[in-house]
Amino acid sequence: LLQLSAPLFLLGMMYREVKQALTNMERLFGLLDERQDVQDSPDARQLVTSQPQVRFEMVQFGYDPRRQILHDVDFEIPAGGTVAVVGHSGCGKSTLARLLYRFYDVDGGRITIGGHDLRQLTQASVRSAIAIVPQDTVLFNDSIYYNILYGKPSASREDVEAAARAAHIHDFVQSLPDGYETPVGERGLKLSGGEKQRVAIARAILKNPSILIFDEATSALDSQSERAIQAELERIQLGRTTLVIAHRLSTVMNADQILVMNDGRIVERGSHPQLLALGGQYAQMWRLQQQRAEQAATEQHDR
Ligand code: ADP
Ligand code: MG
Repeated sequence: LLQLSAPLFLLGMMYREVKQALTNMERLFGLLDERQDVQDSPDARQLVTSQPQVRFEMVQFGYDPRRQILHDVDFEIPAGGTVAVVGHSGCGKSTLARLLYRFYDVDGGRITIGGHDLRQLTQASVRSAIAIVPQDTVLFNDSIYYNILYGKPSASREDVEAAARAAHIHDFVQSLPDGYETPVGERGLKLSGGEKQRVAIARAILKNPSILIFDEATSALDSQSERAIQAELERIQLGRTTLVIAHRLSTVMNADQILVMNDGRIVERGSHPQLLALGGQYAQMWRLQQQRAEQAATEQHDR
């Protein structure tokens, strides 16, 4: 019995490990318990363009057919350009990111990359071209090193460390007794929200994608760390087609175009100065954030 139960015990352990890894991967994109029925069409092609243009053409979408989330969403990210999306929580910003990564297919309209309908491209080629820095990064129960390497498993030690430096996490990692070998995740060192975001940013830098998606990528950082990392984020955006979902408006001021969403629709679009001049929802959001920043500064001063 003992002889039999040992391998069974091991098998059980392996099963748990594998299951945990799969769970981690799904949670990486907040997809746990969500349906994944998207499949390659038999004549699907590889995405090859290195600086692809991305287009959303009159996109309609709902997670549930009885509740439409996106209405007539229509915009273009020029090859190598940056489009930013702002809007209140729940208006559909992250849904854009999920559709571009093709976790779901659109109900109407289409999304194209380099002129090809997403449904005519292989998922593998699309997903290898895109890196997402998500809202909440879930780490694997493994070393920090592995967690960064996941962005590009064939990368060298030097590449991993360079990516960590660019994401401003290298010095922190070096300061840990076990350095890059420190186990993280639920069963290891608990990293703060900001540290996890830096790991996710390092992963994305290492992946060296042609399309980048930042989904409130710096929301867990305080505004000082955000400023420090902002220049780095802008540097890695250069020459890549980028969708920035923004939390603080200060991070989108330099985007080629800013889209303002409300209830699943684009209600305003333009550059930062254009939108301020328009005096609509964006201008109001901007005033509010300026006031809050001033308030925080005064409180800091009074202390
Ligand atoms: P944002 O990122 O702008 O805060 P999301 O795109 O995450 O908004 O969500 C838009 C709307 O879609 C919200 O009303 C949200 O409740 C709903 N939603 C998001 N994910 C799902 C899901 N997996 N199933 C059903 N509804 C969802
Ligand atoms: Mg979101």
